[in-house]
Amino acid sequence: MNDLQIANSVAPRPIQEIAYRLNVPPDTLELYGKYKAKLPIELIDEEKVQKGNLILVTAITPTPAGEGKTTVTIGLNDGLNRLGKASVAVIREPSLGPVFGMKGGAAGGGWSQVIPMEDINLHFTGDFHAIEKANNLLSALIDNNIQSKTRNLGIDPRTVLWKRSMDMNDRALRNVVVGLGGKTGGIPRETGFNITAASEVMAILCMSKSLEDLKERFSKIFIGDRFDGTPVFASDLKAEGAMATLMKEAIKPNLVQTLGHNPAILHGGPFANIAQGTNSIIATKMGLSLGDFVVTEAGFGSDLGAEKFFNIKCRQAGLSPKAVVVVATIRALKYHGGKPLKELTSEDVFALENGFPNLQRHLDSVRSFGIPVVVAVNVFNSDTEAEKKRILDYCREIGVPAALSEGWAKGGEGCEGLGQLVVEAAESCTNRFSPTYALEDTVQEKIKKVAQTIYGASDVVLSQTAQSQLKKIEKLGLSQIPICIAKTQKSLSDNEKLIGRPQEFTITIREFEIAAGAGFLIPIAGEILRMPGLPETPSAESVDIDEKGVISGLF
Ligand code: ADP
Ligand code: MG
Repeated sequence: MNDLQIANSVAPRPIQEIAYRLNVPPDTLELYGKYKAKLPIELIDEEKVQKGNLILVTAITPTPAGEGKTTVTIGLNDGLNRLGKASVAVIREPSLGPVFGMKGGAAGGGWSQVIPMEDINLHFTGDFHAIEKANNLLSALIDNNIQSKTRNLGIDPRTVLWKRSMDMNDRALRNVVVGLGGKTGGIPRETGFNITAASEVMAILCMSKSLEDLKERFSKIFIGDRFDGTPVFASDLKAEGAMATLMKEAIKPNLVQTLGHNPAILHGGPFANIAQGTNSIIATKMGLSLGDFVVTEAGFGSDLGAEKFFNIKCRQAGLSPKAVVVVATIRALKYHGGKPLKELTSEDVFALENGFPNLQRHLDSVRSFGIPVVVAVNVFNSDTEAEKKRILDYCREIGVPAALSEGWAKGGEGCEGLGQLVVEAAESCTNRFSPTYALEDTVQEKIKKVAQTIYGASDVVLSQTAQSQLKKIEKLGLSQIPICIAKTQKSLSDNEKLIGRPQEFTITIREFEIAAGAGFLIPIAGEILRMPGLPETPSAESVDIDEKGVISGLF
């Protein structure tokens, strides 16, 4: 059976039943059909948030297919519930881009999925649409002001950084000219589109604590410069009120269920390279308010996801995880050990061993935060007994608790062993995490600390452009906010060809972007696409719906 067939083989329980188990009073649930509901923010209980067990799922350096963090997150959540723990999975909402582009869901896989998976992967509760509209409202206000005779702020159209957004992989919109059609059509200028998940509005939603905070952050969005060189912010266009109004429902987290009928909260979905790559702070706090355990995921490998999760999200939200799960797969370790992608399904203990240094580096990085670590070996059908034994032996040799994670094939039952280790790790954790850098460090110091402690780099180089942008950042008074380094997920370094555990490399920061509303600076190492394209054969070609409304081809 494929993922969609598995998902459809389980009848979902009414969402009220799932909410009831979390002690959510039925009249506070905001129903979106039978199986989805929004949770009002008032249910957040700060005292419970501090007491709860937050478990972060991260991974080694992934192969292009992804190593199964979402699958492990959902399986582990079901496993913990089977062990009698009140656990909630808290994850991101999928973007439509990958749904119609490359095959591969974002709602888990096999017997570890969230349902109703068609809805979740398509329009869900409309949050992405609201984000897109708030984003595009600001764009419309900018172009309207540039056109205005009486209220013109003197914005230099050539400096406007704010782009429009759409939740689709559409490379033709990456660079566009707007304002064509003569005098009434606006002032022509070059701009472009970001995919919605890459919009700063998405990053802001996921960093906000409340509607007030959201509005405040919208007002701080940096748009570009006036002709006299002074900065323009969204507040100069009085945009924040209307933008926040458009987000009044999108700010509430969404409750659904796993295939094991356990609670899952899905909310927000920022990119993991140019943004923080993890669900909203509101959703994480909601999960901790309603359950004793929250299992959550941060995008790509630990160098991107976990680093940002700790240094940006947890620091800002006052959260501290009790344990970190590092997902490793035998196929990815063989890949890092030099085996070609096409041959990963055949047994090769030697290549597996050669890949261990990648896992070791991720464990060292995660350990730098001072929180207990557990390795989850996400088992694929092609893994052999000898390979499984070798990786578990290796983890024992280096003193890291490790378990096979068989949630994909068996659901929660396949994750009970992992769940047990996670409970033990969480119980042993008595301290809060230590961040990689202090907010008072200079921007350069911050980058250097992340590059050295997390990536294992020897040094950092800033281009001429980056250096002059740093001066501007200082002038804007933005040097004391966290950094969100944009780099490839395919390597610990900034060169995607360096797999395994790269040694003796430097990180080059080409330029900076400013996400003043989200509250971080984005040092960019390498080329980062904010509007992906479709592949040669888009998966959209195989998606269909019959006259009864039955969908096929969604994974
Ligand atoms: P990530 O969150 O790390 O990107 P996902 O959990 O979304 O990874 O998994 C990526 C893809 O791999 C999904 O299509 C999922 O169904 C599949 N997958 C994950 N784990 C397994 C497994 N153990 N066996 C087979 N397929 C898997
Ligand atoms: Mg994922």
